[in-house]
Amino acid sequence: MQMESIVSLCKRRGFLFQSSEIYGGLNGFWDYGPLGVELKRNVREAWWQDMVSRHDDMSTLPGAPTPFSMEGLDCTILMHPQVWKCSGHYDLFHDFMVDCRESKKRYRHDQINGRWVEAKNKRIFVTAQAGDDEQQKMEQRALKFFNLRAKNSDDLQWDGGVTCLTEIEDFEQVVGPDAKKAGTLTEPREFNLMFKTFVGALSGEEGAAYLRPETAQGIFVNFKNVLDSTRHRLPLGIAQIGKSFRNEITPRNFTFRSREFEQMEIEFFCHPDQSADWYRYWRDRRMAWYTKLGISSDRMIMREHDDAELAHYSVGTADIEYAFPFMAEGEYGELEGISHRGDFDLRSHMEGKLDEKTCPLEVQLDEDGKPKWKGSGKDLSYRDDLTNEKYTPHVIEPSAGADRAALAFLCEAYTEDQAPDDKGKMQTRTVMRFHPRIAPMKAAVFPLVKKDGMPEKAKEVYLDLKREFNVFYDEKGAVGRRYRRQDEAGTPYCITVDGQTLTDGTVTIRDRDSLEQQRIKIDECAEVIRKRINDE
Ligand code: ATP
Repeated sequence: MQMESIVSLCKRRGFLFQSSEIYGGLNGFWDYGPLGVELKRNVREAWWQDMVSRHDDMSTLPGAPTPFSMEGLDCTILMHPQVWKCSGHYDLFHDFMVDCRESKKRYRHDQINGRWVEAKNKRIFVTAQAGDDEQQKMEQRALKFFNLRAKNSDDLQWDGGVTCLTEIEDFEQVVGPDAKKAGTLTEPREFNLMFKTFVGALSGEEGAAYLRPETAQGIFVNFKNVLDSTRHRLPLGIAQIGKSFRNEITPRNFTFRSREFEQMEIEFFCHPDQSADWYRYWRDRRMAWYTKLGISSDRMIMREHDDAELAHYSVGTADIEYAFPFMAEGEYGELEGISHRGDFDLRSHMEGKLDEKTCPLEVQLDEDGKPKWKGSGKDLSYRDDLTNEKYTPHVIEPSAGADRAALAFLCEAYTEDQAPDDKGKMQTRTVMRFHPRIAPMKAAVFPLVKKDGMPEKAKEVYLDLKREFNVFYDEKGAVGRRYRRQDEAGTPYCITVDGQTLTDGTVTIRDRDSLEQQRIKIDECAEVIRKRINDE
């Protein structure tokens, strides 16, 4: 319910639109509208400032084992195809999917749940897409299949609990999530999530290239370039923000699972002996970042992967997860993953060998038993000029999604409360309580009425603030209505020019959250906004 209100506010106020909407949309693609683009820019900007541009190379930051350096990078989306072979994406980055011959829909094999049910001497495995309403959907589908009315639901004999479709071997008795008949689902098929394209005039395999499914690989292959050009010593973090593409089989939950999205990734290179400490440092620091920007700690968890879930090379992986309103009670969705990747990536790009544990040998070796693909052959190890020790650095990777972060901020901000209207009557208001740093607009400037020189003065204030902040000018309608519109956009301050302004140079400044109004000098407005943005 709450999610529906958020989605509708996003469209109405211009945070998010479906891509190519006038042509019916394109599933898994989203456009950011005028408010959304500012919100997402602020998310990226906060991340870049906090991780890169404001980073202090000299001091030991709280919780960090030693001082370290940070640099930025901006790599291309298309890279040499060999990158994806050595990274493992070419062979391993796939999901299993099943198609429904009847409904023509496609599903991720591991995202369909079902239950065995019997009625009228027939037994079927009735399914639904995994989600909080799956039980209800299964019952509705079973009733429909057996042609029973809701009041006869006792005729359904359920056998066992909810089971994932991956546990079912024969699909003959399976009724697909959108099918009327049983046995319409195809066998699961592997489906590579990378989008393929062709570079230059070659349309055959020679020209084949892939849109990057993560920004990380651009950092690994440039590790040496960054090190040589900056002359940093390790530990060094390299950060990148950019688009990634995954041909997700079932994009859903608004922008949470999209096919084109933006990542904010750091690859942090350090000495193997220190990597466990750095892993803990980054895990805790990244969690604190979301809290600082207003995500409440009771809606966010840090989930350490257990041994079974860990990639073999990984000493640890933790996901920062958020209780998105579209998730079932007690469930969370991943905002960011922080993983300890050992020397796996640099080694793969040096030697070109995938590991036996992640990839079967027959995939890696050709008929003569030789590796099918080679790494760059370049030495990507590091020599410490003080100790003269040479080693392949270990990597800690905090990998965040800009769209998922923006969505979490949107969900967290959405609030309905009671506030007095122009006549003092209490009304329900919708307010987006964004942290001022990520709020799309920092302030709105209003003349109380459209006469007596107020608009002229208000425009002056507006233009002055505009040089530093994204501010909005509005003179249309009752002032109460103008406040409400800004509350919905999440604007932390409304500054009103009234009759008194013209005599003593003061304005009222109204706080979005407390609704308090203060009188301050025009010259103080910028300082008030600046302080709140910087959390002073
Ligand atoms: P999931 O399990 O949800 O598919 P993942 O574990 O595959 O995510 P990573 O490969 O670790 O994700 O990517 C790092 C981050 O990139 C994720 O934490 C998420 O914020 C973002 N991300 C990944 N896939 C998508 C997507 N399809 N749409 C939006 N953001 C995504």
